[in-house]
Amino acid sequence: MDKNWHFLQCDDCGLRFPGEVDIACPVCKASTKATIAAASHEDMDGRATQTVLGVIDNLRSVHNIGSIFRSADCLGIKELVIGGISATPDHPKLARAALGAQDFVSWRYVKNTLLEVEALKAAGYTIVALEATSTSIPLDEVPPANKYAVVVGNEVVGVDPHILQQADYIAAIPMTGNKRSMNAAVAFGVASYALAKPRT
Ligand SMILES: [Zn+2]
Repeated sequence: MDKNWHFLQCDDCGLRFPGEVDIACPVCKASTKATIAAASHEDMDGRATQTVLGVIDNLRSVHNIGSIFRSADCLGIKELVIGGISATPDHPKLARAALGAQDFVSWRYVKNTLLEVEALKAAGYTIVALEATSTSIPLDEVPPANKYAVVVGNEVVGVDPHILQQADYIAAIPMTGNKRSMNAAVAFGVASYALAKPRT
């Protein structure tokens, strides 16, 4: 946090918001009072013990892929494999969504994600496809493994059914709520965290 951020309170309309000292209220333009300095953030060092590799199968949204890069950097993901029509970090908008994380996470592009999944399986990866199907198991019931490849699929049609056939586990994040549909990049982050954390 490079600026002198405080939580300010508007003298007139009462809006409470973060900003630099003495800026006017964004709602009513009245003067504001600084109440307290914003908290400083300390990073918590992780200790990812399980190897997790991410496989992005035909994800359309550049924003989602950028977001996956950020999560991958934070969670210690070994590598991202980007397949099919997914955008790669060469796309100018991706760098903006990734906030530079694309420079720290190793990645490669493949035209055929199915062939890649078969190769990863042959290389000893446990393939976990994130998909809600009638045969999906809850994510937290995926058994321990030495190394996982987590596959996230297209926003509209989901993971390629041929990849689902190759998967060791088809796993879903148990959901409540009404829409029961999680953004693909968020789902990737939740699943990667769950699979990468140390098992007891
Ligand atoms: Zn105000």
